[in-house]
Amino acid sequence: MFNKILIANRGEIALRVLRAARELGIATVAVHSTADAEAMHVKLADESVCLGPAPARESYLNIPAIIAACEITGADAVHPGYGFLSENAHFADILAAHKIAFIGPKAEHIRIMGDKIAAKRTAIELGIPCVPGSKGALSDPAEAMRIAEEIGFPVLVKAAAGGGGRGMKVAHTREDFADAVATASREAQAAFGDGSVYLEKYLDNPRHIEIQVLGDGLGNAIHLGERDCSIQRRHQKVWEEGPSPVLDQDQRDEISEICANAMRKLHYLGVGTIEFLYKDGRFYFIEMNTRIQVEHPVTEMITGCDLVNEQIKVAAGHPLSIKQDQVIVRGHAIECRINAEDPSTFIPSPGRIERYHTPGGLGIRVDSAAYSGYKIPPVYDSLIGKLIVYGPNRKEALMRLRRALDEFIVDGIKTTIPLFRTLVNNDDIKSGIYSIHWLESFLAAMAEEVALVTAPALSESKEPTPS
Ligand code: ADP
Repeated sequence: MFNKILIANRGEIALRVLRAARELGIATVAVHSTADAEAMHVKLADESVCLGPAPARESYLNIPAIIAACEITGADAVHPGYGFLSENAHFADILAAHKIAFIGPKAEHIRIMGDKIAAKRTAIELGIPCVPGSKGALSDPAEAMRIAEEIGFPVLVKAAAGGGGRGMKVAHTREDFADAVATASREAQAAFGDGSVYLEKYLDNPRHIEIQVLGDGLGNAIHLGERDCSIQRRHQKVWEEGPSPVLDQDQRDEISEICANAMRKLHYLGVGTIEFLYKDGRFYFIEMNTRIQVEHPVTEMITGCDLVNEQIKVAAGHPLSIKQDQVIVRGHAIECRINAEDPSTFIPSPGRIERYHTPGGLGIRVDSAAYSGYKIPPVYDSLIGKLIVYGPNRKEALMRLRRALDEFIVDGIKTTIPLFRTLVNNDDIKSGIYSIHWLESFLAAMAEEVALVTAPALSESKEPTPS
């Protein structure tokens, strides 16, 4: 087992890893930027090293500084968390060259899954169902049109080097097609320096359902059920839950087994998530994330399995400690991502947290690095914590979530907690029937309502003042 893990991350995920390491009896090293000197992960770790100034490329993405920190502290493994260097195969290679373990998959698997076209080709080879589309990048416009017609409109033009939803355009008809290809390609060239695009059938109002997998790199792999992350804004997950409210047992068994089998064939090492769009009873692979996900606690709550603990053990060369038939999904869990943002405009709200009180009681988990008096720096993402609730079934989990949200106090900054208080009482949310576009439509309708309420007041104020 490792002696000392350097955690190359910040915020709640750095704390999450620190907790798992400590429970395994492993020493921890926190790294941080100058903006994070007062951060909780720095206060709680056994040792800490300042990597550099606030911008991530000079600190959390600064590979030479991280290697130096490992050497100074004698860390024999690095946990990258999510984001930052977690899906950087080059970083995994450099650590290997320095004889430092990377707590994550083999570099070759990070590379494949990081390349959209290679990932899709691999998924098809492994028997994972994919969205119908072109086999690779398109170069010839006439050929592209022929494939688009074969797939059938609407089609989605996607950047091969894409990420974060950029370089993606829908062509609804034959007439839209040339324009969509040109725009997607131009955007991709500007954003990623690579204008190549490929085609997929555009799925209208799907859900997002993903399967958690875990492998030991020796050919043993299991799945830990699904998470439904259909409540999104701008392709960012906002609310995640498991099990999905729309799957029956046969459907979940089938897709989960396909994923576990695929990971056995790959000899996949570590935790991973295979993401699908789901529509009319069918699954369509979109990508695989080769790291721990933000929403992993949902799975931990319903399976009782500590994913970060398992991730560390398999990285150290241990075989899987759990067998597939020992994974039993019980009850229902929901996670809300609490962001330091205005709950209606989503404008970031960094600053000092004056008062911080988290909910508690049976079935409640709060993963956060916030505390009273903590000053949220404006330079990083705005996630300040995650509220995860567990209940014996979805209805009771929703009741518990409502109760927990009422107890949550964060004063001094704006947070998205009020949005979740609205969502938890919404009939569509309660029914569980919605697509990945539901939240954006709901927010647009709310904004319109506010505009309608305030409109008369505005026109009144425009009345000429009586002289
Ligand atoms: P990125 O890497 O840019 O995030 P993805 O392939 O993961 O790209 O797609 C981002 C989002 O775009 C998905 O979460 C989904 O909401 C939507 N999307 C992707 N592919 C399709 C498709 N074929 N049909 C409809 N929506 C899609």
